[in-house]
Amino acid sequence: RPGWKERLKNGLARTRSQLGGLFGRTRIDDELLEELETTLLMADVGVDGTQYLLDELKKRVRQDGLESPAQLQTALTDILEGLLKPLEAPLDLAAHKPFVIMLAGINGAGKTTSIGKLARHFQAQGKSVLLAAGDTFRAAAREQLAAWGERNNVAVISQESGDPAAVVFDAINAAKARGIDVVLADTAGRLPTQLHLMEEIAKIKRVIQKVDATAPHEVLLVLDANIGQNALAQLQAFDKALGVTGLIVTKLDGTAKGGVIAAIARQQPAGKPLALRYIGVGEGIEDLQPFVAREFASALFG
Ligand code: GDP
Repeated sequence: RPGWKERLKNGLARTRSQLGGLFGRTRIDDELLEELETTLLMADVGVDGTQYLLDELKKRVRQDGLESPAQLQTALTDILEGLLKPLEAPLDLAAHKPFVIMLAGINGAGKTTSIGKLARHFQAQGKSVLLAAGDTFRAAAREQLAAWGERNNVAVISQESGDPAAVVFDAINAAKARGIDVVLADTAGRLPTQLHLMEEIAKIKRVIQKVDATAPHEVLLVLDANIGQNALAQLQAFDKALGVTGLIVTKLDGTAKGGVIAAIARQQPAGKPLALRYIGVGEGIEDLQPFVAREFASALFG
């Protein structure tokens, strides 16, 4: 099986090959720039993100006297790296004990899988982990979480039915009693059409704050890279209800176009740091990588 960088590049192949065709040409002209614009739009970079990248690129063409499409490619990769750099911010788990992470996202985004991967990742850093099955609506979600708990050999706090907030409340208290480092709290996924039902997840957050006024220390939104510009609407809706502090973008090894990460970077409200903590690059337990702007920019444009 290829390594994760290879899988990421394979996942982004559509965008990469289109750009490769453009940058393989002999000269920079208006036609090339127009096709570049179309390619970026089709790669989910968004109207605003595309405008930004092209404006910056044209500036460099003038200032640095770029002459060949190959130079354009290097410049564009640099510009993208600069745009994505502020998203690069690893979690500091030592800041709190237990460090409480609440995960949110719509059904199918990859939330439960990401919890399993995170548990493995944190354990590899020497941290003890506890899972809270805060999705009490779907029996399947509880079972899936229990399976990840078993695979990682970590405890899962779960209730057959009942109030998700109560489950998370119990989990944090259990973590305190057991001296656990990290609590990963699952929440019920929402369908894209049910974003207004977010009040319930907001309630989980309020209950968490009752156990620990500083918690949750991270509200992680899990987004599927394949949903393109819809990611922005989801981010906005979840942020309004919960105050999202970090993201996981999943399925970048699949058929995603990848540009949505640039669109997200552009949407960041000024003065409010939003971090892209991890990217999902496969279905397996190890297939989670801390986000590194340079690596992603060269996987997409380089
Ligand atoms: P949830 O409903 O948000 O909890 O989503 P799940 O964790 O059940 O994931 C939905 C599907 O996406 C499952 O088939 C996962 O194996 C798959 N999945 C999750 N993350 C990734 C990823 O990074 N890459 C790929 N290829 N598949 C993923």
